[in-house]
Amino acid sequence: MNPIENQQILLKSRPEGMVSAENFESNIQTISDVPEGKVLVRNVYLSIDPAMRGWMSDQKSYMPPVGIGEVMRGMSVGEVVESKAPSVKAGQLVSGMLGWQQYALAKPTQLTPLLPGISLTDAISVLGITGLSAYFGLLEVGLPKEAETVLVSGAAGGVGSVVGQIAKIKGCRAVGVAGSAEKCARLTSEFGFDAAINYREGELAAQVREACPKGIDVFFDNVGGEILDVALANIRKHGRIVLCGAISRYNEAELSPGPRNYMSLIINSARMEGFILMNYAGKFPQAMKELGTWVGQGRIKSAVDVVDGLERAPEALLRLFSGANQGKQLVKVGPEPA
Ligand code: NAP
Repeated sequence: MNPIENQQILLKSRPEGMVSAENFESNIQTISDVPEGKVLVRNVYLSIDPAMRGWMSDQKSYMPPVGIGEVMRGMSVGEVVESKAPSVKAGQLVSGMLGWQQYALAKPTQLTPLLPGISLTDAISVLGITGLSAYFGLLEVGLPKEAETVLVSGAAGGVGSVVGQIAKIKGCRAVGVAGSAEKCARLTSEFGFDAAINYREGELAAQVREACPKGIDVFFDNVGGEILDVALANIRKHGRIVLCGAISRYNEAELSPGPRNYMSLIINSARMEGFILMNYAGKFPQAMKELGTWVGQGRIKSAVDVVDGLERAPEALLRLFSGANQGKQLVKVGPEPA
């Protein structure tokens, strides 16, 4: 093969507090050969995830931290351009943890072939980690029942927008919390939420009481902090709080004290439970089938926000923490295959 120049983004330093573009640096690697048993993949879209902030810190988690000088970890979808593994063919579309780079040399076991007939952006959003987190978090941890009230924080984001739409499919009242009037308008007009709350305006507790007059049966939390406390104060008997994420805490150099209203769990015989998507890996095919059916029927609308250019991946990550993203944040690394 002709040698190719592979643009990469490396982790340069660990953030203290808010992540910054300065924590990353560019690198050019030359790839001149595909080793036996390996596959060369050209990345097309990168998934930008709040969890990346955690992977940048040297702390105990469900995955080891990214090392300084290593390619930043990240999920992507792309096209196999050359294969020296019998199970993978050139031209196949695949997903995998291939990192912030234009090309990746991968083992076949690191790759998942994409389902035929779905777009690359759906494959890495509503039918990928994002939609699956919404699906399992809500249905397996939240256990929503018809006519119950489901409150979702980070509701206009990748995970949150899908949670609200699944809650509606299950016959629940869906209430979303988001950070702008524009996002709130999208929640009710585009994603079918029954009500939306702008947490940056007015008193949050009063707005939650008004939108959830009977209280909250399921709170799906992507944010943590104040909204978690407000939800605890309004949880109903036998209510369920799903801890999916706590993005308001990810950039804290020193963690703030935990929720004040946790005793509400005792009084209401309620439950608060976290989950990690990988717990459900064995059930992904069935979930992707059901999500795919709902997307095909137009019952779930996928919202993606695409930033163009690998060099803008650090900026895309920062968008998650400023709230600039409208839906699932992606980076387009290269052209879609013809
Ligand atoms: P996202 O919701 O599309 O983007 C993040 C959103 O969080 C922003 O758009 C912003 O929306 C909101 N936000 C940021 N800082 C905030 C703050 N200080 N206070 C309140 N809201 C804030 O991201 P996503 O990829 O869909 O992820 C959502 C959550 O799911 C994250 O917490 C992530 O860690 C979690 N997650 C968990 C799993 C799992 O296995 N448990 C898997 C995937 C994702 P506003 O404009 O509304 O503020």
